[in-house]
Amino acid sequence: MMTTDPLVERMRAFGTTIFTEMSALAVRTGSINLGQGFPDTDGPPEMLEAAVAALRGGANQYPPLPGIPALRAAITAHDQRFWGLTRDADSEVVVTAGATEAVAAAIMGLCEAGDEVVCFEPYYDSYAASVTLAGAVRRPVTLRPGPDGVYRFDEGELRRAFGPRTRLVLLNSPHNPTGKVFTREELTLIASLCQEYDTYALTDEVYEHLVFTDAAEPHVPLASLPGMAERTLRISSAGKTFSCTGWKVGWATGPAPLVSAVQRVKQFLTFVSASPLQPAVAVALGLPDSYFTGFRDGLQARRDRLVAGLSEAGFEVLPSSGTYFVTVDIRALSPKSGAEFCRELPERCGVVAVPTEVFYDHQEEGRHLIRFAFCKREEIIDEAAQRLRKLSR
Ligand code: PMP
Ligand code: GLN
Repeated sequence: MMTTDPLVERMRAFGTTIFTEMSALAVRTGSINLGQGFPDTDGPPEMLEAAVAALRGGANQYPPLPGIPALRAAITAHDQRFWGLTRDADSEVVVTAGATEAVAAAIMGLCEAGDEVVCFEPYYDSYAASVTLAGAVRRPVTLRPGPDGVYRFDEGELRRAFGPRTRLVLLNSPHNPTGKVFTREELTLIASLCQEYDTYALTDEVYEHLVFTDAAEPHVPLASLPGMAERTLRISSAGKTFSCTGWKVGWATGPAPLVSAVQRVKQFLTFVSASPLQPAVAVALGLPDSYFTGFRDGLQARRDRLVAGLSEAGFEVLPSSGTYFVTVDIRALSPKSGAEFCRELPERCGVVAVPTEVFYDHQEEGRHLIRFAFCKREEIIDEAAQRLRKLSR
């Protein structure tokens, strides 16, 4: 019998992602898109040239399932260089179709139906969908801005989220959408709970190179803490670090059994990901330190530019220590929810942002918060700031 919606029941709550909705709204209204996080300039020329050469050089058939050896070697060398992490390029790395596939394959490969996944809300939207597809259960712990605007979690709430069914902790730091960088003290607590409850950790570190110089602490991969290397799958991606979000080249590194679990699911989702892009990402990962610091400094300058514009427009701006994003509290400008506010913003002043409430299980926690992306050219940020001034006039 035909039902009105053929989609499986467990996926119906997900609708269309906020990024798709808001980017379509930006196109439809001709607005400046500070919603979906993608840069409007290309990444390093060496990487682009390497991709062209690979494409012309015949790298156009299936690469090996775990990724080409040069890319796996570049990933392990990068992780050693920046984070002092040691992994075996043959057995402890798998290349995926973006970080998104790595997260999905890891959750599906590690969670039985009914297993629990501790995560921090607001969270990147694919997490909830992947947990649901696996038949697992989310145990969200809420990040809330303190009087200084810095997001923190309550220790008791985190402790209560753990239990006998906890299978893994899913941690994103630097954190989208808040720009929070988890501190060593917070990571140490998370690590101790992983060990107490004998769970795995899945870390989404796609913004690993985007911690600004005024952040209170540097980025620390959870896998580098004592006792965590053997239970942590570390996920990253080329998209953010090399301004190529459309390439969808990501990876997971960790102990061989965890990487194998990802690989055994991944082989039936996409099998492999784009072969000519893999050697190019290998080149990018080997760029000198100056690329990575220059990239960060460029984003930091654009963050500062957007933050100044948002403050002038009348928003209360929360501090962003990393990522592509900054969150504002809209209550000084509007009593509406962030979702209503963002749906009207393009008509009111030709700018698109993303409501943060869609990234929560407890949506009321983020009702008054919206997110702007600053990974855009300076003239675009300035124009957006100019347009947003209309709000307080
Ligand atoms: N995780 C986070 C926290 C993100 O912000 C994004 C969006 N770029 C992803 C994962 C997805 O990464 P990819 O495009 O490599 O799948
Ligand atoms: N990661 C990007 C963001 O948070 C968007 C990714 C997507 O569109 N799925 O804006």
